[in-house]
Amino acid sequence: MRYQLQRAAQGLLPGERVKHCQRSTMSESGVAVFRTSDSGASFGNLTTCGSVWHCPVCAAKITEQRRIELQDAITAWTKKGGEVYLMSQTFPHQLNQALADNLALFSKAQQKFKNSRAYKRIMEEISSAGSIRALEVTHGENGWHPHTHTLVFAFPGQLKLLEQLDMVWIDTLVKIGLADRSQLNEMLQYAFDVQNGDYAAEYVAKFGHEPSATSKTLTNSHWGASHELTKGHQKVGRRLSGRTAFTLLRDYVEGDEMAGELFQEYGKHFKGKRQLFWSPKLRKALTLPEDERTDEEIAAEELPERELVTVLDHEQWRLVLSRNARFEILRVAEDEGAVGVARLLAELTERRYTHSDHYWERGRRGWNHLGGFIGKAAMDA
Ligand SMILES: [Zn+2]
Repeated sequence: MRYQLQRAAQGLLPGERVKHCQRSTMSESGVAVFRTSDSGASFGNLTTCGSVWHCPVCAAKITEQRRIELQDAITAWTKKGGEVYLMSQTFPHQLNQALADNLALFSKAQQKFKNSRAYKRIMEEISSAGSIRALEVTHGENGWHPHTHTLVFAFPGQLKLLEQLDMVWIDTLVKIGLADRSQLNEMLQYAFDVQNGDYAAEYVAKFGHEPSATSKTLTNSHWGASHELTKGHQKVGRRLSGRTAFTLLRDYVEGDEMAGELFQEYGKHFKGKRQLFWSPKLRKALTLPEDERTDEEIAAEELPERELVTVLDHEQWRLVLSRNARFEILRVAEDEGAVGVARLLAELTERRYTHSDHYWERGRRGWNHLGGFIGKAAMDA
């Protein structure tokens, strides 16, 4: 599924690094196929893009690593006797608001909120050691919904004080121009939410996990809250039901052209944004190591103790790409090793109609966004 979605992203964002991810080879020596006993199979000697926003394959690897870091932070703070709160923020959405506009204003509002005297006073009163903010976006019936979830590391039993930030956030939204006073009721209901440690732990446990193929809406899995938790409590969460970027990709693969255009808009404006922001002194307060790996480093990391299954030469790799069979290669490598890979390669030469043939045909008829890139990428490899 991730490879299939990645392929759609490659067609939709031809100017981005994702286009070459897990397709272009890094040297003349072909493409290595590895497997490990517990983490499945992987390719070696291929470019990785390291984009948590654009690439479903890299995003899975990166967010899993980030999830472990968040988990370590919560564990460290809880061991010190602290509590981690989950604060969620968004703003009233108007239909067809451009993502570029509301994203810029939203980030301005976040900054103003954190610089406000009231915020600083409350953070001091709850003895906050810092916070980690996660930026997310969904697309629902009212358009784009950028929102943040922030883990606040503080003393236990401070929920009441944190709830006072409700009005501080609403004032900020009005001052920045993301809402006006007439929307007060809506904002009181949906714009701000803070929950205690159980919710924070639950959110982190599911961080980065994709909604299942059958769930068109993602509220529950996306929010990291189990069904009971969402029901009646996660007010911001209920408001944010909608499609994630990768759900848009999936809908596009299934024929929803509009979803593809939305993914392009998202891809353009999220590029370069930080997904997670740790406040500067938090790692020190948690006695966690400072060395933070970049997304690119995590995505490019190779698993230790991997076994070399086989090496595909350039012609074989071109065949795999042209039949859209990267994932199939990994699956047979994992299950059957070199023999399985050799058998699949022989089968691929016989295979005419695959997804990629389908897109290739479309491309030749002038639906250039998918067809064109396959031909080019295959040549790149
Ligand atoms: Zn990638």
